[in-house]
Amino acid sequence: MSNFDAAVEAIQSARTIVASTGAGISTESGIPDFRSAGGIWDRYPVEEYATIEAFIADPAKIWKFWRAISSELGAYKPNPGHFALAELEEYGKLSAVITQNVDNLHQSAGSRRVVEYHGNNRRLRCLTCGTPGDLVLAEGTGVPFCYCGGIFKPDVVLFGELIPQQALLRAEAYARTAEVVIIVGTSAQVYPAAQLPFTAKENGAFIIECNLEATDFTHSITDVFLQGKAGTTLPMLAEAVLGPSGEPS
Ligand code: NAD
Repeated sequence: MSNFDAAVEAIQSARTIVASTGAGISTESGIPDFRSAGGIWDRYPVEEYATIEAFIADPAKIWKFWRAISSELGAYKPNPGHFALAELEEYGKLSAVITQNVDNLHQSAGSRRVVEYHGNNRRLRCLTCGTPGDLVLAEGTGVPFCYCGGIFKPDVVLFGELIPQQALLRAEAYARTAEVVIIVGTSAQVYPAAQLPFTAKENGAFIIECNLEATDFTHSITDVFLQGKAGTTLPMLAEAVLGPSGEPS
């Protein structure tokens, strides 16, 4: 049996299937991943722009950076990989997507159960009282302030911050109960997100991995490695599982 057929069979025979996605699912939408040359982090070094210490030290500088990349991020559209996961969910073959991405593209593609492990760039949160805010508050040029006097921060998890409690608990519950996990486009370098597939494996999950290249998962916990672009592999998987009409076969 080919790797692809083994993945299809695993998805068809499972009841609880969870996708765990990283920056790689959005590269075909035009958003550079973390590590590619010429990506965001070449222009804006992580230590200078993406840590909570950097934000607290100079919120005006980080807001200037954030406005620049949010307007870039806002223009991107979901690709066939995002749509394939939304379709699997619609027809009962995907319980949830746990994503490290902050780009909102799973929701734009129609996925409804999305656990945002690292937040969402379309929301704000007050650093002092936790009040949520929407992007309107970020219009203008200065640092946006909350009514409590605290500073609003983009609602994304910066290095040095904790994962939001609700996302942590939901992701952990999905990882513990999934019969199949489809890992897509993550380098397995960012923790604790990278721990989730290991937790799933310890609890008996079958692991399918879609990536351009091998990762730390590939030779440790992956049962089936589908090498290639997520925007090609995932639609093929969805069609093989659901049939051309979109109904489970
Ligand atoms: P990463 O950049 O560390 O790794 C990306 C992985 O995706 C690599 O293994 C690469 O081989 C693979 N990949 C690239 N294009 C692919 C494609 N078309 N199909 C399949 N695989 C592909 O990404 P990460 O592991 O998600 O870690 C980066 C962190 O930075 C994340 O935690 C995330 O929060 C953040 N981030 C988010 C975005 C976004 O929201 N779109 C973008 C960049 C970084």
